[in-house]
Amino acid sequence: AQRPFIVGNWKMHGTRAMLSEARAIDRAAQRLMQVEIALAPPFTLIHPVRREAEQIGVGAQDCHPADGGAFTGDISAAMVADAGAGFVILGHSERRETHGEKDKLIAEKGKAALDAGLKLILCCGENQEKRDSGKATDHVLRQIKASLPADIEDPVERLTIAYEPIWAIGSGKAASVEDIVEMHTAIRAFLVKTFGEEDGAGIRIIYGGSVNAENAAEIIAGDEVGGALVGGASLSAESFMNIVLAVQ
Ligand code: 13P
Repeated sequence: AQRPFIVGNWKMHGTRAMLSEARAIDRAAQRLMQVEIALAPPFTLIHPVRREAEQIGVGAQDCHPADGGAFTGDISAAMVADAGAGFVILGHSERRETHGEKDKLIAEKGKAALDAGLKLILCCGENQEKRDSGKATDHVLRQIKASLPADIEDPVERLTIAYEPIWAIGSGKAASVEDIVEMHTAIRAFLVKTFGEEDGAGIRIIYGGSVNAENAAEIIAGDEVGGALVGGASLSAESFMNIVLAVQ
């Protein structure tokens, strides 16, 4: 079986003062090789965190679909790769909401990321209204289908799907293990249909939304749950490594 994959998404948190947390996470990770650990700090900390990291993966939280050009304030996939990122998180609901990102743009960003040699963590998830109306699964599968870049080579290595129900993010109310497993099982069936039996079975599906040291072990023990994407609880080495310790 694959190692659990625990990714910290620092969102728009972190100045150089937080490098000590990254260092502490990396040092602790060197003794916890049964878990694959990664951090996605803001752009400004990718290179400094990379310099601290001997054991953990380092990634970005976004990239632009173009290689370069007149795009003031944007950052290309090649730039984050050059800064030391090995992966990029794309399609996060916070970017869909606050930057109006649509599936088609996310697919273009994904292609740029893969072309730059980055791995991809592709996020999906329904809001409360879709959940209440029983349309969550349809919505999530449609989202993944529309935001996946075409022709991904070696998808088991290069693609991770992160299921993050919007109502569970930052709310302190994680989805139930039952709901997570149901959604991940539907995503798995979609991946098998899309990538074939072997690759479809190997692509990791991780869960995000109010994961903490108390609920992580139970969530990760669920069928088809390959790890967690952690926001708030990844901001200190102590709370993040307590999650890793709980799932190892
Ligand atoms: P929280 O862990 O703070 O709920 O955030 C989850 C998330 O959005 C990770 O990408």
